Amino acid sequence: MTPELKRWIDALKTLAVDREARVRCPERDDGWLTVIDVPCYGDTKIERYMTCDSCGARNVALMAAPKPPKT
Ligand SMILES: [Zn+2]
Repeated sequence: MTPELKRWIDALKTLAVDREARVRCPERDDGWLTVIDVPCYGDTKIERYMTCDSCGARNVALMAAPKPPKT
């Protein structure tokens, strides 16, 4: 596993706990990751796109959709 991949996985774990977390760019440590969630598979899963706001490095992960907030 490359150091960059390990940092992407760490970023994913951090953002899974707190979507608003500020995460440094795993590729170059030059900017912050922007998160965009795209629902798929009938809203049971999301594709989470993470993009660096500085160099444009990006990655995507398929993950379980967050539970809707209780009302
Ligand atoms: Zn970057």
